[in-house]
Amino acid sequence: MDAKCVECGKKLPVNTALLKNVVGGSLITGAAVGWTSYAFAGLLGFYGGAALIAIALLAGGGAVLASKDSVAVTKVGTKITDILNKHQFPCSNCGAATWIFAGIQDNDLVSGLAHKTELDKAFQTVRRELVIASGFLSSYVVNEVFAEKLRLVLSKNVAVTLVFSDLRSHSEWQKTGFKVALKLLDGLSSEYPNLRLLQKHTHQKGIVVDNQYALIGSFNFLSNYRVERAETSSKVSDEASIKGLKNEFLSCKS
Ligand SMILES: [Zn+2]
Repeated sequence: MDAKCVECGKKLPVNTALLKNVVGGSLITGAAVGWTSYAFAGLLGFYGGAALIAIALLAGGGAVLASKDSVAVTKVGTKITDILNKHQFPCSNCGAATWIFAGIQDNDLVSGLAHKTELDKAFQTVRRELVIASGFLSSYVVNEVFAEKLRLVLSKNVAVTLVFSDLRSHSEWQKTGFKVALKLLDGLSSEYPNLRLLQKHTHQKGIVVDNQYALIGSFNFLSNYRVERAETSSKVSDEASIKGLKNEFLSCKS
């Protein structure tokens, strides 16, 4: 697994050897020769299933585990980086000692055109629940091609909520596209009760895919077709952030 320096972004590969160094002499000197990984996980405070996850993470098997239970993996990974922080392990690049779990995804930032790929990926990855929030709604994006992708997940009983501003928030030139897109979505929602359309006074932009991951950033997923301006979003995979973002998107308080 990797930890990431909060100050400079440097990634630090964390394995058993490094952690044995970090937790250091006092705890380990007295121990019998012949450490087992399992005993080591116990020393770090992991037991049962969490110990198995810790061992696999430290051996570099995080990606395999992540497909099974990303929430538990993130919990254990976060606890391991807490150990680095508690022992003030310095970054070799900047000297700071604030580490975060680098996550189970390779890239945690999404830029420009990659947002469109992320939207497709969300449709492909989702199993139970999908939330897409966008400041605006436009038929440039929400067209027949989009409807096909949506239909596919709706027919697999995925609960989909699309969150966007109502007509009043759209400029004159945006209103026609808004109405065309909304008509298409209204048709789909009468066909599929598991499609919910949430119109509210919003400028939020993001995606939540089950409890697997969430995106939050500048990109209007339901209206931006050309991606002409600079756009950046952050991708998060820890349980608390995913839940928090979902609540924010679904909340009707402004
Ligand atoms: Zn650093």
